[in-house]
Order: sequence, then structure tokens, then C-alpha cells
Amino acid sequence: MSKDYRVLLYYQYVTIEKPEQFTTEHLTFCRKIGLKGRILVATEGINGTISGTYEQTQLYMDTMHADKRFADIIFKIDEENISAFKKMHVRYRQELVTLSLEDDINPNELTGTYLEPEEFHKAILDENTIVIDARNNYEYDLGHFRGAVRPEIRTFRELPQWIRENKEKFMDKRIVTYCTGGIRCEKFSGWLLKEGFEDVGQLHGGIATYGKDPEVQGELWDGQMYVFDTRISVPINQKEHVIVGRDWFDGSPCERYVNCANPKCNRKILISEENEYKYLKGCSHECRIAPKNIYVKNNQLNQDEVSERLAAIGEKLPATAL
Ligand SMILES: [Zn+2]
Repeated sequence: MSKDYRVLLYYQYVTIEKPEQFTTEHLTFCRKIGLKGRILVATEGINGTISGTYEQTQLYMDTMHADKRFADIIFKIDEENISAFKKMHVRYRQELVTLSLEDDINPNELTGTYLEPEEFHKAILDENTIVIDARNNYEYDLGHFRGAVRPEIRTFRELPQWIRENKEKFMDKRIVTYCTGGIRCEKFSGWLLKEGFEDVGQLHGGIATYGKDPEVQGELWDGQMYVFDTRISVPINQKEHVIVGRDWFDGSPCERYVNCANPKCNRKILISEENEYKYLKGCSHECRIAPKNIYVKNNQLNQDEVSERLAAIGEKLPATAL
């Protein structure tokens, strides 16, 4: 039985003249169809994740494909039971993805070799190839390709600096890189070439495409893929499910992401429901006792209840809070 909704993930690096005007018009168009989601528009192109019914998403794809700027867009389609977004946003940005480079990379001029899922699969198994995850560390922690390098970065813009600091480990090796849908790797692999790495490949269509490939069926992917919508995680490996996520507190297998309840921290942490209760959804003592802890607020816990839970983990409220 088919599901009621579809989620489309796509991008296209192509020059968009008057991008701000396009942004406004595109928002009107999306709202008229009834879509929900998030689309970024820049002079360098478009990047979006949107959700809607079969008819709505089909109309969107057909309309986009009829525009010669977007005729080549490859839409990755997920079928879902519920809409993955609550609102429709189309926003103008200076860049689609930000590497904070002195000179930006135009992937239409410089980018790594595209590897189809089967070629990428072979590359992972090749000992002389280094697989670099081009996503953020919290995305890696929920799931990644077996043996892939995890850059110590919290945002994409930190990636070039991290590579430069670790350059000697990767020089003279074949490098292949991957990200969710492929858009980040287009720039990142181009930057690697510019930086002097000679043999650079990228997973064409990203992890999303790899997971749907009928041959590889997501094999060699462990865990789940982090996505930037209400689903948070989606399965990739159709053959086996190995959990790589680890609970922030006790290290037990866990795939449940939440944001730390201290709004000033907001760190993404993997925690079980039990530990969320026990640790007041705070990643540290400071976050647990933060005056604006939203877990405490939403659950209407009074000071005695907070003290009681803290006592159970050997902590207490500071005297100033009493
Ligand atoms: Zn925190």
C-alpha cells in the first residue's frame, strides 16, 4: 500500500538571476500548490526539501522540470505517512552551502568525480581509499559509512580548516566524500581539488540515493541518516540495521536525538527516554540547572522535584537557586 505523502530532496547549481525576486515568486507558487518544507535560493542555485501529497509533489517536479534552468534536477523521493514539515519557507541566501572560503567554489567549473552507488561501494572496500564524511559530527554520530573519517566539526564551514590541520593524513591518497543529498560534496570535493588533492570522488546523489539503489541496497551504511525535517532520522541500509548511535550519558545503543533543554546550549544529544527523565534533558550539570531549562518548564516541575531528580544522579541545585 502506498503512503499518503512524499518528501522531495533536491538541489541544482545553476545561475539564478534576480534571486530575491525568484524567492518571493517561488514561495507564492509553493503555497499555492499547498507544499510544506524549506527551500534555499541563491545566485548559485536552489536547494530544497519539501513534502506534500503525491499530486502536489508531482506538480512541483513537473513545473520545475519544464523550466530549462531546472530541467536536470534529480529529485530524491521518500514516501511517508505524515508530512515532514509544518510550514513552507523559501529563503534567499548568499550561498547554498557555506564553506567560508576566500574564493568560493563553483561546482559547475570544479568538482570531484561523480561516483554512482556501486562505484562508491567499491571505493569503501578499497584499502587505499579514504572516505571522508562531509557532514557535521552529530550527523555522523547517528549513522555513517563503515570506516568513514569523522571530521571534528559542528558546522560545514569548519571543514576546510579541519582538512588543512589533518592534511598529511590524506595527501597522496584517493579521497571519496559523501553527504546527505550530494550538495555539500559538490563544493567540498571541488575545494579538495583546488587545495591540491589529486584524486577526489564524490557520491553522486548522496546517501539518500545510495540507500535506494537496487544493487547496493544501502549496504555498508551503519545506523540511520540524519535529516533536517521532523523525521530527524531515516533508514538507509535495507539489508541490516547496525546501531552506531550512543546514549550521551551511558553509552548504550541509541538513535533518539533531542536538543539539550537549556536554550543557550541547544546541543543535539542522543538520549533514551529514561535518561531524558533522569537528567532533565540537560547535557551537563549547568544545562540541567539552567533557569530556562525548557524540560523543567514544560513538565512544570517544582524545585523539590528538580532537587529530587538531581539528588538521584548525585547533583544538587546551587544555593543561589533556592
Ligand atoms: Zn546543554
